[in-house]
Amino acid sequence: MYITTCILFAHLLSFPLFENYPNMIENSMFEEEPDVVDLTFPALDPDEVAYEPRSSRLLVRGLGENDMDEDEEDCESSARLLGMSFMNRSSSHRPSSSPYTRQPPPRSCSRPSARTMVVCVLFLVIVASMTMVLYFLPGCTFTKTGCKPNKTTPIEPVYPESTNGTLFPWAQLRLPQSVHPLSYDLTLNPDLDNMIFSGRTVIDMLVLHNTKRIVLHSANLNITKATFKLGDGDASDVTVLEYKPAQQIAVKFTEDLKAGQHCVLTLEYSAKLSHTYDGFYNSSYTDKDGNKRVLAATQFEPLSARKAFPCFDEPAFKATFLVKITRKPNYKTLSNMPKANVTALPNGLLRDEFERTSVNMSTYLVAFIVADFTPISKNVSETLVSVYSVPEKKEHTEYALDTASKLLEFYNNFFEIGYPLKKLDLVAIPDFLAGAMENWGLITFRETSLLVGKQSSSLEKQVVASVIAHELAHQWFGNLVTMSWWNDLWLNEGFATYMQYTSLQTVFTSCVCLQGNLFLAVRFRAMEKDALNSSHAVSTEVNTPEQVEEMFDSVSYEKGASILLMLKASLPGDGQFRKGIIQYLNQFSGLNTDTNDLWNSLTQNVSEMMSSWTSQKGFPLVTVSRKGDQVTLTQEHFLLTSDNATHTSSLWNIPVTIKLQHQVSESLALPESVKWLKLNYRNTGFYIVHYGDEGWAALRDALSSNVSVLTHEDRASLIHNIFALSRLGRVSVRHVFNLLDYMTNETETTPVLEALLQLNNLYRLLDKRQEHTLVFGSLMNNQTWVEEESVSKQELRSALLETACGLNEENCTQQAKALFQKYVDSNGTTRIPGDLQQVVFNVAAQSDEDWPTLLNMYEHVTYDAEKRKMLRGLASTQDARRIVWILNAGLKGDIIQTQELPLVINTVCNGFAGYLFAWDFIQENWDHLIEKFPVGSFAIQTVIKSVTSQFSTQAHLYQVKGFFSSLKERGAQMRSVQEALETIRLNQRWMDKNLPTLKKWL
Ligand SMILES: [Zn+2]
Repeated sequence: MYITTCILFAHLLSFPLFENYPNMIENSMFEEEPDVVDLTFPALDPDEVAYEPRSSRLLVRGLGENDMDEDEEDCESSARLLGMSFMNRSSSHRPSSSPYTRQPPPRSCSRPSARTMVVCVLFLVIVASMTMVLYFLPGCTFTKTGCKPNKTTPIEPVYPESTNGTLFPWAQLRLPQSVHPLSYDLTLNPDLDNMIFSGRTVIDMLVLHNTKRIVLHSANLNITKATFKLGDGDASDVTVLEYKPAQQIAVKFTEDLKAGQHCVLTLEYSAKLSHTYDGFYNSSYTDKDGNKRVLAATQFEPLSARKAFPCFDEPAFKATFLVKITRKPNYKTLSNMPKANVTALPNGLLRDEFERTSVNMSTYLVAFIVADFTPISKNVSETLVSVYSVPEKKEHTEYALDTASKLLEFYNNFFEIGYPLKKLDLVAIPDFLAGAMENWGLITFRETSLLVGKQSSSLEKQVVASVIAHELAHQWFGNLVTMSWWNDLWLNEGFATYMQYTSLQTVFTSCVCLQGNLFLAVRFRAMEKDALNSSHAVSTEVNTPEQVEEMFDSVSYEKGASILLMLKASLPGDGQFRKGIIQYLNQFSGLNTDTNDLWNSLTQNVSEMMSSWTSQKGFPLVTVSRKGDQVTLTQEHFLLTSDNATHTSSLWNIPVTIKLQHQVSESLALPESVKWLKLNYRNTGFYIVHYGDEGWAALRDALSSNVSVLTHEDRASLIHNIFALSRLGRVSVRHVFNLLDYMTNETETTPVLEALLQLNNLYRLLDKRQEHTLVFGSLMNNQTWVEEESVSKQELRSALLETACGLNEENCTQQAKALFQKYVDSNGTTRIPGDLQQVVFNVAAQSDEDWPTLLNMYEHVTYDAEKRKMLRGLASTQDARRIVWILNAGLKGDIIQTQELPLVINTVCNGFAGYLFAWDFIQENWDHLIEKFPVGSFAIQTVIKSVTSQFSTQAHLYQVKGFFSSLKERGAQMRSVQEALETIRLNQRWMDKNLPTLKKWL
């Protein structure tokens, strides 16, 4: 699934503050996972106990920096410490044109090429020793002396009551493993006039262990008839018990079903089409004649297949599926597989039958659609690729078809495993909450994630291309090989996110810059979230539905992608990573895996290094200190809010890369003629570096005389790191600004955007903002207002101008107003360059006369990317009545689609006037909100973060705490609530500490 993040630079835009109200550095975060989650129900049979999610604890012990022998800090001993696995590679793996050399074997630690830049790749285990002990034994007491079995007698399970009053035979959230589904036959009869459907599900199953019950999932389905057939016996009626809180149904038997037996359960049911965005839900759009057209589509990930048909709704219960759907003749149906045949029914309806899936797949990947969409198609290798949209938008589908075709070819080659299905449909759905969903063979998208016009800017096209790249990567990573359980969601999402940013560089060479920039910025943002105590490990225990929803967050996606990049960069030779991936996909094709399976597939021994990144939250701060010619590196947990932190001595195996001023001869003993060094070459590592006052000064001096001594990624990473260190309290604001002095010579997009973003956060604290334009004034004034070809320049220009106009720079706002006027006068036929549309609409929305004009345009424009920018413009208004109106309209869903409400709230919260209104709004409408967006979902995470991340006072802390704790099971336990509270406290602390200095300094 692709989750729509609120646009990266959304918070650049803040229209004039009216008072000096303290806003705060944006810090997003995630909360801490419960270390051991208390299951509602105790476990029973040994058979089932084996599948109860167990608490595994990683115990990491290490010596603090004081315990280290300084001599051990150099490269040689670090190499020794690490074992030779990473060190025994020769630099001949790299082409001679490589800008850096790999570390030769220990003892000649750094023998770099005679270049100005030298990178010494070291795997430094910085601390002398590290003991890792994994306790996997269930049911034991953890003490200093180790793990002792509990002496308590097994507890009798407390079975809950079914809806009919009898005992439900199962008491856990996870299903028993005694029966596995082999195949499903699904028949669905949707009635779009009455928004209901009926269905029939035939499940062929294999009994794995003797058992007297079959338990599976079902939610909101009214089961009308059930029959059961064992082996070759006759089918007979059975009673289905339901336990609604766990969304489970069960059939009890008096005799054991025996291991090895086949059986068939047939269930008939009826249900309402969902009016939210999951399950089998209805959607509608208005056609060009103004008629409302209804359709039905599915979104099952993570837990909603059970809302469309009874099933074993966990990713490890893979099976094949045969789908039949009835429809009116004027509709089409789509499902994962190609259509096999059509039958005319006596009632005038038609029944489409699809081929049985040729692959075993998880329930969350099943999909079907009933709509009147039109396709365009193309053959790629053995696969028919089609893009579907509502008929009005057919002309916006070509780019997607072309891109999907190229990417499909790319992945076929990259993975060396052909895409296994005969067709691949990409469908734009008018109501769709996520960005896109990778259903096998039937990928669904938000319209804005798939449709672009010929006129669209290359920036918009690349956004679409990257979403397609993400979803296509899932067809292998996720669909072919699937995580066993949602605790390892990152295996799907981290990898798809990684491919999203990297595949396009190969497929479309012109994308290099933008995708590279985006991926870098994404890694910075992931760090901000992961720097809080409330963050969680990449691979983390989950049990409840809310916890599953919460896994769809930046730790699974962006941190997951970041550590894969780090791994790839640390492996010798470019092909190693890919080889490992191919090996993994082949070995586990059609199966389910966990994180260790991935590490074990790589030829190098990476398991120890990588588990230090996946099994604990956070990331390290590496501090560089130089004494004479000795360079010492130490690591500690980069934790922004240590107040309430449970103090663990977390340690990471860090693949450290170092760039030095000059060629050096030996290890990390640097002659004093080497003035500066920069760690984390191109920021491929997931850590922050502190160079100490002198180290930072040396880097600043180097950049001031020549910016190109470092790559633009390195420059951006210095900017990011120094702001982060200032937030941590390790570097004074003065030093931050000292480094920024060099920026007058900076012209590259990446560092400018990072500095802009950080400064905007900072300046929002204060009512004094002219300095902003001092740093970037000339760059802002140099931007043009005509069509621009370069994607990178478009990106830079839109960010600079949004900031300038947000600051009410006269030059900027006048140009924007003029463009808007021209656009209005031409009745929308003159084009505003795509990358300038946002700034133009934002400026227009500040005007009393233009806001209604913009709203009118919003209602009528068909082109989705533009429509969304208009909406952001509308929501950026500072007019209180309009803010209230737009929030309510977003909830109501007629003029503004409810799927856009998180974006509306986020945009409203970026303006000074808006966030207090938004806070009231979500408190008043909480129950409505969680009806539309599941508790814990990414949409709810976005809403909570948007409304609370600017609070920085005790009063607001109490309010937020009070409100969320009053919600109880309606959201009080969410990780994003803990994150919000931690952020407010952090904001408070930061304000107390820095505001006086900042005010003085500015
Ligand atoms: Zn995804």
